[in-house]
Amino acid sequence: MKPYIIDSHAHLEMRQFNADLEQVLERAHTAGVVHIVTVGSTLPESRRALKIAEKYGEVSAVVGIHPHDASGVDELAMEELAKLARRKRVVGVGETGLDFFRDRSPRDLQEQSFRFHLALAKETGQPVVIHVRDAYPRALKILQEEGVPERGGVVHCFSGTADDARAFLQMGLFLSFTGTVTYEGRKNRQWSEEILSLVPLERMMVETDCPYLTPHPQRGQRNEPAYVHLVAERIAGIKGLSVNDVARITTRNAVGFFGLPVDLPSSRLAYTIRDSVYLNVTGSCTNACTFCQRSTDPVVKGHDLRLRRDPSPDEMLEALEDEGWKDRSEVVFCGYGEPTLRLPEILKVASRIKDLEPSMKIRLNTNGLANLYHRKNIVPDLTYAVDTVSISLNAQDANTFEKLCRPNLGPDPYGSLLDFARKCVAAGLDTVLTVVAHPADDIEACRKIAEGMGAGFRVRPYNEVG
Ligand code: SF4
Repeated sequence: MKPYIIDSHAHLEMRQFNADLEQVLERAHTAGVVHIVTVGSTLPESRRALKIAEKYGEVSAVVGIHPHDASGVDELAMEELAKLARRKRVVGVGETGLDFFRDRSPRDLQEQSFRFHLALAKETGQPVVIHVRDAYPRALKILQEEGVPERGGVVHCFSGTADDARAFLQMGLFLSFTGTVTYEGRKNRQWSEEILSLVPLERMMVETDCPYLTPHPQRGQRNEPAYVHLVAERIAGIKGLSVNDVARITTRNAVGFFGLPVDLPSSRLAYTIRDSVYLNVTGSCTNACTFCQRSTDPVVKGHDLRLRRDPSPDEMLEALEDEGWKDRSEVVFCGYGEPTLRLPEILKVASRIKDLEPSMKIRLNTNGLANLYHRKNIVPDLTYAVDTVSISLNAQDANTFEKLCRPNLGPDPYGSLLDFARKCVAAGLDTVLTVVAHPADDIEACRKIAEGMGAGFRVRPYNEVG
């Protein structure tokens, strides 16, 4: 399956594409690239970027003057940029920032131009595209002084340290990655592994920065948008996801950030992550976890899980069929809610799955409060329906649990969760306790609880769902 992907930073307006732009766009289309953001680096290139975006619906433009050319930024230039930035097909201001590696413009003028661009982004209500090389602390300081534009910012072709990445993430910025993360040298591999593990996918975009920075194994040729999936592949390898997972999530990020005219897939009953097919059983829950995005942004790994109503067993089975469940390794009952609220429906669908494919693994993701909700022990029912139960423990003690998960059931929801988990282990179900790496959690204490009852244990990153 072709990835459905966006190249969030290209330079189609550069002379390297003068001769064959149409063919470049055609190859991008064939490779599954649904949109390209082309980013001006000078005034003439910004004008050309806009022209290209006006001609081709699958291209949007960002306008700005690169820090290399900051010495040419004066009031007149900024006035023209301001006009360009308000045009319909323009979706951002940049690329601006600081490049203390090449130092092609004096540093004070680079800083002045960066501040101008930040002000312009605020004035025009556009997000800002930032270029930084060997100047991360200084760029951060300027952003702190000036403030990030309301529509946000992205640091393109991120090349900084782990501390730089944390600092920019803390300011709410996105980080975008190019072919440099695919380069082979030992030092580069170590760097990209560290940074890509650290940055949540929900805060990443992918780009080619073409015609430069061609990803491995195409390195040596001119770069073009059709190669952007190679960047996604490297990220997928580090994150333990599929390239389609990375493409889908970064596409959603780019569409939201730039406001791109791209239709995103609508909400799903069944969806795939890695090699598992998930069934979105309900949007209702017996908890109201402080970290849950159920009511604000119910998106998991790029899949929109908004449900207008809970699906019937027949609808679930139909959705599984559409998702090609028989080719997957596992079916998971989940939802942005608590699936065991729909216990009879789950049992019916699970039994049908086992009838059709007896070897198919079935997992239930649950908050562990089913026995409290149903006022009976449901574990014997589960033993006929599922192979694995993944329970959100989320806290090392009852107090922390109440504060973080805010259950609406009683008495003693934490005690009931632990009892449910023990019963699952005793019934021979493969049982895994999970915690979100929330600052209030004592991960080691949670691990001991899991080990103490003979269950598996998994930590899910805070702010990274799914
Ligand atoms: S248990 Fe899951 S779905 Fe329910 S509130 Fe908590 S995070 Fe959200």
